[in-house]
Parts: sequence; structure tokens; C-alpha cells
Amino acid sequence: MNKITRSRAPLVLHNRKGSRKRAELNRNKLRVSRNEKLESGHFRVYKDPEVRELLEKNFLNKCCYCGTKVPLHVSHAHIEHFRPKTAVTTLTGKVKPGYYWLVAEWSNLLYACPLCNENKDTHFPVSDERQRKIEIEDILEEKELLVNISSRNYRFDDNYSYDFGCKESWISEAVVLEGKSEKGWKTISICKLSRPELNAKRMEIKQSVLKECSMFLEFLKLCEQAISKDNYLVKRRYCECAKDFLNKYFSKKSLELEHYSLRVKILEMAIIKDSKSLIKFNKVVEKESQAIKIYEEQEDEDVLTELNDMGVIDVIISNYEL
Ligand SMILES: [Zn+2]
Repeated sequence: MNKITRSRAPLVLHNRKGSRKRAELNRNKLRVSRNEKLESGHFRVYKDPEVRELLEKNFLNKCCYCGTKVPLHVSHAHIEHFRPKTAVTTLTGKVKPGYYWLVAEWSNLLYACPLCNENKDTHFPVSDERQRKIEIEDILEEKELLVNISSRNYRFDDNYSYDFGCKESWISEAVVLEGKSEKGWKTISICKLSRPELNAKRMEIKQSVLKECSMFLEFLKLCEQAISKDNYLVKRRYCECAKDFLNKYFSKKSLELEHYSLRVKILEMAIIKDSKSLIKFNKVVEKESQAIKIYEEQEDEDVLTELNDMGVIDVIISNYEL
């Protein structure tokens, strides 16, 4: 549920004169004017593999509603229409015509897991039904009550928060996703973002992140101890392991992690409060890096062999990979 940045629309969705997209829209316009019912077979352009591939890439293979990684298999990933194709269910359960003219519109296409996609179905609540568009019109006036992580002003913290329970016992308590805005609450309720499978997954992530956090804090201590001794090899190994952890969670690539927003919140609770250690660690690494560099230049294979024989490196590595 992190914000995503869209690349430019794929070629097949460009609205050029004579394009497949424009031809399909014109055919559907004609059907609507004749009061013919629109069916899913009338929409083909958005199903082009180019569209799916780019959505997968832009959404980092994660569901736009629940943040779960969608398996990289064509049948598992759903192209989600933010504004539904053929019919819309309002907040009061009324069914209105869908937004057929936005079916192949790049900004209306999202990437969702099958469960969220099925739950969302034809729901598309707006704050004022009088502003709902049912014909080809600009949708700017509509105030939708559903979270879109690809919209320009989306921020996780504006819409959602995680309740970790009581501060003293948060480590063992369940993680509950809550809304912070009407949009957030409606999205949680429509897409069933508090379903048992998701709650179990959140708990699993919390436990694994906490385990990594405690390993990391342990590494910080070991780094300091190693640094105080004059053993460059051990020193370097500890620093590398600790740096791997920081890279995993604080680099650009971190966004690819499943349920990243949740992981960050857990880190904030477990580690950021220990920010003094982090700052100290960074300073120590900086100060020592020069010494490590000098050591590497004159690295002696005998030392490596000796340490390997002692099993030191294996112990460190296996600890880290726990
Ligand atoms: Zn989902």
C-alpha cells in the first residue's frame, strides 16, 4: 500500500486516430446509444500483454489494495478497473451504469490480487451521488471514497494506520489495519482488508521483522566489540551484515518488499526508537571504513583460511541467515 509512480501509458493505450483503443471506444459508444448491454467481450484492448507487463512493473507485483505480492503467473494477477467497467454499485446498493469510456484509460487501471479484486467487484462509492458520471464526461468533480495508491496525492498515513495493541505487549498482540480517513475505512470494508488470511500474514511479517531487528541490534553490539579489537576481518564481516540489513529496509529496492508499509511501522517501533545506536553505528562504520579499505588492500589469504578453520565466519553467516 505504498504510493506507486506510474510510467507513461503503454503504446497500445495511446489514443491515436485509427488506434485499436479509439475504435473500440467508438464501437462501445454506439452500443450504448442503441441501449445495448455492454459485456466483458466488448473490451479487449486493455487485456494486451503490454498493459499487464507494465502494470506488474509499476505496482512491483503487489496488490494495490492489500499490498500482498501477486504470484507472477498470468492467471493470478488481475487488472483492476478503479472505476468499474460495466456497472457500479453505490453505497446504498443501487446499481448504475459503469464507466465504459475509461476501460482502456491507463490511469484507471490498477493491479490487484484476485481476492481484493473480487471483493471490490463493482463497488465504487462517491461522496455525492449527484456528481457521479454516467456518460462520457470529465470525472474530476467526482469525489471517490476509495483509496488509489497511484493517485498523485496518496499517502499511506493519510488513509491508514496500524494498531499494534497495548505498548507494553505489542510484540505478541495482533496487528489491525485501521482507517484514518473515510476513504481508508471504505476501502478496508469493501476489499475486506481485515480478512483472517491478511491478519495472519501481518502477524507473520511482524514476527519475522522483529527477529531481524533483534539480530541487527545484536550485530551493532558485535560490530562495536569487533571494532574495539584490531581484527579487520571480523570487523568487516559484522559491518557488512549490519549494512545488508539497512539496505534491505532503507534502500530504494526495499519498496519491493511485500507489505512494506507494515514492515516500516514495525521497524519504527522496534529500532528507530533506538536511533542513537543507528547514528553511532553509521559514524563507526564511516570512521572504520578507511581502515578496512587499507586492510583489504593487503588482505592475507592465510588469515582468511585461519578464520575459516576456526569456523568463525560460518557461525557469523549462519546467525545472520537465521
Ligand atoms: Zn489484495
